[in-house]
Amino acid sequence: SAGKPLLQVDGLEGWYGESHVLHGMDFHVNDGEVVTLLGRNGAGKTTTIKAIMGLLNKRAGSVKVGGTETINLQARHIARLGVAICPEERGIFSSLSVEENMNLPPKLAEGGLSLERIYDLFPNLKERRRSQGTKLSGGEQQMLAIARILRTGSKFLLLDEPTEGLAPVIVQQIGRTIAALKQEGFTIVLVEQNFRFAASVADRHYVVEQGKIVDMIENEALDANIDKLHAYLGV
Ligand code: ATP
Repeated sequence: SAGKPLLQVDGLEGWYGESHVLHGMDFHVNDGEVVTLLGRNGAGKTTTIKAIMGLLNKRAGSVKVGGTETINLQARHIARLGVAICPEERGIFSSLSVEENMNLPPKLAEGGLSLERIYDLFPNLKERRRSQGTKLSGGEQQMLAIARILRTGSKFLLLDEPTEGLAPVIVQQIGRTIAALKQEGFTIVLVEQNFRFAASVADRHYVVEQGKIVDMIENEALDANIDKLHAYLGV
C-alpha cells in the first residue's frame, strides 16, 4: 500500500529546443502507488514521463526519485535508480524473437524477474517465445515491452498509453498485469487516454493541461468528479 513519496516533482519545466512545453509541474507518487496522467492530446503527458526518465534534454526544476535529485542526471543514471520507461512506440526489436528481446535488457537493479516469472505473468509470451518480434500482435508487443522492463529489476515504471489501439480483451489483460505488479509493490505512472481503463487500475489521477498539473482526483472520488473530468478531457 501507499507509503512515502518515491517520486517528488516540483516546478518541472521542459523544452523541445526553443519550444517551452512543461510549465512548472508539481506532483508526487507514493511508493507502491499507481497514478495516471490524464489530459488532452498535446497537454504534455508524454513529455512529463520523458523528463522524469532523463530523456528530455532541456529541463529544469526538481525531480527527486527516492530522495535523489535527478534533474541533471542522464537517463542511464536515472535507470540505475530503478526507473524504467515503456514508450508508446514500444521499441521491440523485430528481427529478434520474443525470448531474445527479453534477454537484451541489462540488469540495472536487484530483483529483475526471471523468464519463468515473466511467463507466469504473461502466458501468451511463453507460447510465442520463439516468434519474431514482427509476428506479434499489438497486444503481444505491448506485453513484451512491459516484460522487458521487468527484467531490469526496475520497480518504478513509466508506461505511455499501454492500451492504445488494443482490443478490449487485451486491455483487460494489461489491466490484470498492472494490478499484479501493484500487488508486488511496483510503483507505476501511467499516461492514459482510456479513462475507463485508468479508473480500473489507478489509485489517483493527475490532470495535465498545457504543461501543468491542474487537478488531482482520488480514484474513489472519480464518479463524483465525472463532469469536471469530462470538461478537462473535452469528451
Ligand atoms: P499525446 O497524447 O498527443 O501524446 P501528450 O499530453 O502526451 O499528448 P506531449 O506529447 O507531451 O503531449 O506533447 C506536449 C507538447 O509538446 C505538444 O504541443 C507537442 O506538439 C509538443 N511536442 C511533443 N514532442 C515534440 C518534439 N519531439 N519536438 C517538438 N515538440 C514536441
